[in-house]
Amino acid sequence: MNMDCLFCKIVNGDIPAEIVKNTERVTAFKDISPQAPVHILVIPNSHFDNMAEVSKNDAKLAGEIFALADEIAKGNSALNKARAAIDRVLGRIAAPNIPTEIIPAP
Ligand SMILES: [Zn+2]
Repeated sequence: MNMDCLFCKIVNGDIPAEIVKNTERVTAFKDISPQAPVHILVIPNSHFDNMAEVSKNDAKLAGEIFALADEIAKGNSALNKARAAIDRVLGRIAAPNIPTEIIPAP
């Protein structure tokens, strides 16, 4: 938990978000400013600075993030050809925790 991190606050319930699905270690929620009709962020429940750090420190967790993203995409016809994108840096928010995004492919 990082008190300055927007995503940690969402996981903790301090900031409201529309949760799509969550597991013991991963949370998926709707982006508050969607870049597409469906725009879902998938993040680890514990704080990591970026996805590379997740992979280095907990490869199984990285797998769980993509598995949940895939599960959500399969359950939503708008995401039939979904694209998963990993942000290295999210300059637009003051949160270094990097989510996996799933949005429909153009
Ligand atoms: Zn965080």
